[in-house]
Amino acid sequence: MIIDAHTHTFPEKIARKTIAFLQNKAESVAYTEGTDCALQKSMEISGVDYSVLLPVVTNTAQVEKLNDIAIKKNEKYRETGLFSLGGMHPDYENYATELKRLRENGITGIKLHPAYQDTDIDDIRYLRIIDAACAENLAIVIHAGLDIGIMHHNFASVKHIENVIKEIAPEKFILAHMGGWKGWNEVEKELCGENVYFDTSFSLGEYEPPENVYVPKEKRQMMSGEQFKRIVEKHGYDKILFGSDSPWSEQKITIEKIKNCGLDEERTDLILGLNAQKIFGIKKS
Ligand SMILES: [Zn+2]
Repeated sequence: MIIDAHTHTFPEKIARKTIAFLQNKAESVAYTEGTDCALQKSMEISGVDYSVLLPVVTNTAQVEKLNDIAIKKNEKYRETGLFSLGGMHPDYENYATELKRLRENGITGIKLHPAYQDTDIDDIRYLRIIDAACAENLAIVIHAGLDIGIMHHNFASVKHIENVIKEIAPEKFILAHMGGWKGWNEVEKELCGENVYFDTSFSLGEYEPPENVYVPKEKRQMMSGEQFKRIVEKHGYDKILFGSDSPWSEQKITIEKIKNCGLDEERTDLILGLNAQKIFGIKKS
């Protein structure tokens, strides 16, 4: 079973505008139109059984709205292949009640995006949310490391993350982008072996933009296959999740990169889906 643990989609009505805005901000390019339908097409082409949707909440007014959508999606995830997590914002007051509501309605994790929520991940507002999420047995996925569109401050640096581990030690703590985008040497030194998960989204090898699109070399260069293999071995193959960050990378290409880095079949299968199935409680259809 192949599960993509890191994807994003947007409602039909705003997809085009949102993608254009984000492309511009990050100087990167989307591979799909960013809708559920486009993601399902990509899944079909690349053999992905389930995609985990990570809603990014950028203001408190969106919290309940986006979570309602997530709950609705999960009611039929076995037919659609789209399994959504919930979202939370550091300034949302009734976080404990809302997290409970998520858990009671079939949501098994939340996404936090420190850069887009303009808050360090070890800020007290996040710590109390993470604590409450753990009490509901929810997985916590965070954007880790720099953000390609916000390079002036690292809201989820290795140091910040270490503080969260020290304060709360979440059971299911998933650090996107292999523990910290563009900070992989530090991740390898400081976070390998900790009780955290890494997802592979937007991290492996050289970023290959769609044809006819120019992206500067320093933005294209990411983690080498050797470093990936080293981290997998040092950190534990049971704590690595395949994620593509679709629409910002192509699912098919990310799967190929993982398959081509020289791990045996058992380890590859765990990374490509079995680890995510376990951590998010995704049931086979
Ligand atoms: Zn993402």
